Amino acid sequence: MKIVYNNIYEEPYISNPVENPGRVRLTAGYLRDEGYQFVEPKAAGFQDIRSIHGIEHIEKVMARGLYDTAAYAAGGAIKAAELAISGEPAFALVRPPGHHASANRSWGMCYFNNMAIAVERVRKRAGKVLIIDIDLHFGDGTVSIFRGAGDITIVNPASIDINCEYLKIDNRGYVGAVKKALESTIYNLVGVSAGFDNYIEDWGRLLTNDDFRKIGQAIRDASEKICGGRRFAVLEGGYSLDLRYNIKSFIEGFE
Ligand SMILES: [Zn+2]
Repeated sequence: MKIVYNNIYEEPYISNPVENPGRVRLTAGYLRDEGYQFVEPKAAGFQDIRSIHGIEHIEKVMARGLYDTAAYAAGGAIKAAELAISGEPAFALVRPPGHHASANRSWGMCYFNNMAIAVERVRKRAGKVLIIDIDLHFGDGTVSIFRGAGDITIVNPASIDINCEYLKIDNRGYVGAVKKALESTIYNLVGVSAGFDNYIEDWGRLLTNDDFRKIGQAIRDASEKICGGRRFAVLEGGYSLDLRYNIKSFIEGFE
């Protein structure tokens, strides 16, 4: 199990104040103290970014001075996917997040779609890919990018969407929905858009640290059974002061 991290993720940039450097800085410190192994990714190359995003969108991100910041986050996701393909589970502790970035626009503190760029990089080698997005918010960017792709399945268990599914589910139901998604399709690689804003003390007010551990464990168990353990996760949202404990709990199950 590797934690993919670059100190560049701690650099400030103009965003919503909730998406601040402390999210990853405190988590990295905590995971280092707990003895986890870290690997440092490079920035995603222009071609990797261009494989997902239109040139106008890329130029807009450049014009805002955010290209390097966003490219390093995408590079972290690529590194985690490459590790997973080589048989080592990985967690990319990146910021900014990416799942609200579609090909030609982005919102919600996202610029480039880290998960999509990573999956696209390993897509031919991977075969069928399952993306599980456990963030509170629907990963609209990722869905729009891979809409109609026969080799990629995306599951957003009960996230905030127009059907208001999130109003009807409790924490046990949520963990059950993740398990069901893992059993309902065939895949050779699992990528987790790991948002933690479903935490009981965060906006979603739903999942406990024990639930995050169970979710990580369910993904580990299913991936070991179905796809040789090939799994990686990329940080999306999660804004509570407990974020480091949320991530640690997930990793305990996932590793
Ligand atoms: Zn979110």
